[in-house]
Amino acid sequence: MRIALDRDSQTPLYRQICRFLEGQINNGGLAADTRLPASRDLAVSLGVGRLTVNNAYAELESKGLIYRIPGSGTFVLQQSPAQPAEGVAAGIESLPAWQQALLDQPGKSAAQRQDELIESARSAGLISFAEGGGDWHLFPQDDFRKALMTVLKQDDARVLSYGDTAGFLPLRQTISRILVSQGIPANQEQVLITSGSQQALALILKQLVPPGECVLVENPTHMGFIDLCHANGVRMLEAPLDEQGMLIEAAEKHLNSGRVRLIYTVPNFQNPSGACLSSGRRRQLVNLAAAYGVPILEDDFVGDLRYKGQAQPALKALDKSGYVIYVGTFSKMLIPALRIGYVLCEGPLYGRLLAAKHSADIGTSTLMQRALDAYINVGRYEACLRRARSVYGRRRQAMLTALARTMPRGVTWSSPAGGLFIWLKLPEPLTADDLFVRASAAHVIYTPGSLFTPTGAPSPWLRLNFALHPPPLIESGVQRLADVIRRVLSP
Ligand code: PMP
Repeated sequence: MRIALDRDSQTPLYRQICRFLEGQINNGGLAADTRLPASRDLAVSLGVGRLTVNNAYAELESKGLIYRIPGSGTFVLQQSPAQPAEGVAAGIESLPAWQQALLDQPGKSAAQRQDELIESARSAGLISFAEGGGDWHLFPQDDFRKALMTVLKQDDARVLSYGDTAGFLPLRQTISRILVSQGIPANQEQVLITSGSQQALALILKQLVPPGECVLVENPTHMGFIDLCHANGVRMLEAPLDEQGMLIEAAEKHLNSGRVRLIYTVPNFQNPSGACLSSGRRRQLVNLAAAYGVPILEDDFVGDLRYKGQAQPALKALDKSGYVIYVGTFSKMLIPALRIGYVLCEGPLYGRLLAAKHSADIGTSTLMQRALDAYINVGRYEACLRRARSVYGRRRQAMLTALARTMPRGVTWSSPAGGLFIWLKLPEPLTADDLFVRASAAHVIYTPGSLFTPTGAPSPWLRLNFALHPPPLIESGVQRLADVIRRVLSP
């Protein structure tokens, strides 16, 4: 342990040690039951006498901040809720000016607001349909552990070093193979591995849309993309969507204005609406992009989670003139904690993204990339996908059936063919934002639709994730939500 001691100060060294540790214990930096260094070791590392450390520890003990177990060591005692540490200002007014300047900047992101909503509702027995991922019970923990162990046992130091910024070559080859099997022309030189697909979206937006310029988005759309636009000072022009995806006429109107630098779309089982862009609209959109000379950012975050009907071709597969940049991820189909996504693109953009990726984080974890590649190549990925499709498909049906059975008249919802989400509309004059507090009091939550719109204005829409729970919990959760809506409609 290091402690900055001022040897010229009037304050004795033991007091300085005591003050530092007291501050960190009260501040929560040293949690309850943390073992403090043995007094001899601390004395050596601080270059002070052992008696000095013993005196500091004695004072901390007399203040009820630490306890000793003979033969075991000295430990931090549980404290009441964190107090500001000495030297750390308590009120906003005592913050330094550079910190206060940050307070004037735009408020919380949609993702932060969602986290706060979920946190505010946390209670025993809560049924949450709010989160954006799959059910962690289905994550292939044992198989993935084996893949990780296989990699760690390799006698190859490169496993633990920085890797190629573009990504681990065999994994890029594996991804190309998967893409080609989906009819998307690809090779490893065009695949860039990113730290989650969110990083891919961030890098691409930054390269293609300068601050103050416009991106065309579906409304509603992925809140993470809205947050990115706000953070980069990029303006959003909105095209509404229906169950067949983005309304192409609205998109064309914006393209006609000449202001659009990039089109962002989630064509498969869109987040949050679950809409799937029809094949006709896919072709129209790709043709429009070429006609107006505007690139498309195709975010295929759950394309493989289809429960009904035939897969539609990716926009990238329809693109004959080089206008589509394709982004994929393993977060929803496999494990979010991998933080592995990828971009498929070519030309100078690839080099630009590579350089930007290097300056952002040097590269995505080599260890995780190698483990993922090992996992996919023992044939586990396909099996895991089949299981997810089968389980989530049943849950989707369970939620649709429960909604039909319980919801009062006037409530409507989508019936997505895949993905994770059902998009539900409350009857006027209800808003999902107002209803949230009542729903959470009834121990059921969702994500309000306002978080998926560029303005964040209150909305009658809400997003339900049907993949998170087994059917009996889905049924109880939907019943609770229906009861809340009914009570609000006819108090
Ligand atoms: N795109 C969409 C549509 C998403 O919903 C998300 C995450 N919720 C992402 C991209 C980013 O996911 P990740 O970074 O985990 O790949």
